[in-house]
Amino acid sequence: TPATQIRNFCIIAHIDHGKSTLADRMLQITGVVSDRDMRAQYLDRMDIERERGITIKSQAVRMPWQSETETFALNMIDTPGHVDFTYEVSRSLAACEGAILLVDAAQGIEAQTLANLYLALENDLHIIPVLNKIDLPAADPEKFSKELASLIGGKPEDVLRVSGKTGEGVEDLLDRIVEQIPAPKGDPEAPARAMIFDSVYDTYRGVVTYVRMVDGTLSPRERIQMMSTRAVHDLLEIGVSSPEPIPTDGLGVGEVGYLITGVKDVRQSKVGDTVTTARGSASEALAGYTDPKPMVFSGVYPIDGSDYAELREALDKLKLSDASLQYEPETSVALGFGFRCGFLGLLHLEIITERLSREFGLDLITTAPSVIYEVTTDTGEMVIVTNPSEYPDGRVASVAEPMVKTAILLPKDYVGAVMELCQSRRGALLGMEYFSEERVELRYLMPLGEIVFDFFDHLKSKTQGYASLDYEPAGVQTADLVKVDVLLQGDKVDAFSAIVHRDKAYAYGVLMTERLRKLIPRQGFEVPIQAAIGARIIARETIRALRKDVLAKCYGGDISRKRKLLEKQKEGKKRMKMVGRVEVPQEAFIAALSGD
Ligand code: GDP
Ligand code: MG
Repeated sequence: TPATQIRNFCIIAHIDHGKSTLADRMLQITGVVSDRDMRAQYLDRMDIERERGITIKSQAVRMPWQSETETFALNMIDTPGHVDFTYEVSRSLAACEGAILLVDAAQGIEAQTLANLYLALENDLHIIPVLNKIDLPAADPEKFSKELASLIGGKPEDVLRVSGKTGEGVEDLLDRIVEQIPAPKGDPEAPARAMIFDSVYDTYRGVVTYVRMVDGTLSPRERIQMMSTRAVHDLLEIGVSSPEPIPTDGLGVGEVGYLITGVKDVRQSKVGDTVTTARGSASEALAGYTDPKPMVFSGVYPIDGSDYAELREALDKLKLSDASLQYEPETSVALGFGFRCGFLGLLHLEIITERLSREFGLDLITTAPSVIYEVTTDTGEMVIVTNPSEYPDGRVASVAEPMVKTAILLPKDYVGAVMELCQSRRGALLGMEYFSEERVELRYLMPLGEIVFDFFDHLKSKTQGYASLDYEPAGVQTADLVKVDVLLQGDKVDAFSAIVHRDKAYAYGVLMTERLRKLIPRQGFEVPIQAAIGARIIARETIRALRKDVLAKCYGGDISRKRKLLEKQKEGKKRMKMVGRVEVPQEAFIAALSGD
């Protein structure tokens, strides 16, 4: 049994509302990080987190706090706020009894404020409403206290006001946490049950598993068992993060800490699984989470084909720490050997590809992101299509696409422009609600495929950056979708096939054929570029034949110049891809895919 009282809480907020900065101040005020060692975003360990100013992985840290009468151990879990990482938030929430709902006092409630609040309420957490950044000249705490109080059904006076930057109000917040958030409940005598809420791969220590003890105790040198697989592991170390790892002589009811077992792959230590002891083990697992499922797929190819083996190794390594990443080998006429990868969303895709290039030095090209289509064929068979080139051409009876419920928060002046945008993306209005005189929530049912492209960019530009977006899966719906192919001299260029709504097929065809005409150099013969739905051509461009021999430029003179030119040409050929008889520099494909 722990010597001190425990309080487990998390901080939930919209991105940029100041979770990580507030966490920094708490680390400093409670003395677990000295002023000398303090640096901004202390808990964001990955370079990419620090540079982009976003949190990708959850973090748990233990801090002492003294009330007038007692000493408390506070376990704080800093969570990512972005929609792609909702699964990280939900697993962290399940390890807590309370949540600080943090809102920027100059911005008010945003889309992920709501999404995260709903998750916290589903987990029965006690909510402490807090306005942050009150030091900002633009802060309007009066107005936003009311907004926040009316959202959670409390009084505006009960909304705390803090500045994560200056530290103002943070001590009051720590007092409020120990007063209001309930102590963890659990049976100390029962067989051990601990819930895994995160699992990370560390080059030196192997897999580090973060757990919240629910019942019983775990001690060092015990053998533990994963309840889902019954796999038994030696426990090499057990401890708490404060915020550096501190080995302890065990974890008791309600405590949050880490386990090291020597396993090398996060998949052996699955988030949501229950840990028990090998001897006298618990009979019933704790309610787990559902595995996060990839929603967006894209082909990832090395620009230099000889990097293929390195790309595979890099993906294997990233998978050790990110169980949600999926990939399998794929080949493309245009791009060669690569992988079809599944991601949780677009930010996840961006982060993985950025890590591949930064941490592994790989130059990559990714194909247009695709969602998961459920295609029913004329024989009644169901085919799952995550790559348009696998579309069962000519045998399609119907196609269903994934839908999402979106919530968009925006100032009321932009409602017209945003409604127009949503309608152009086949959105169906579900509802509209005023949060205050000027802030509105629009709810749309939309195809995910319409969002993964550039919806967020358009949303931001139509609202001068003032709109925020959140979405959640909402089943599948059939739609009039078609596959558009792009052909060079009658041969399909697989990387350019796309599944689009029939109304948008023509625009896609025109865009792609025009782009390729500009990018592909003239050949010794005429090359038609066509866009087609099945056998029907919907757009066409032509690259006219090139007459002149490349040597003609040399006026028959200098032999060595001729040889140099020929060598240069040969060099260039290596990077050429053949589509039928047509030679295309790989750069042309890359430029066409990236829209340059
Ligand atoms: P997170 O995405 O919720 O973790 O937000 P961060 O903690 O990374 O903060 C986002 C931005 O807001 C950063 O530029 C911070 O410096 C700034 N910020 C955070 N808290 C405060 C505050 O209390 N006052 C001011 N003026 N800026 C803050
Ligand atoms: Mg953060």
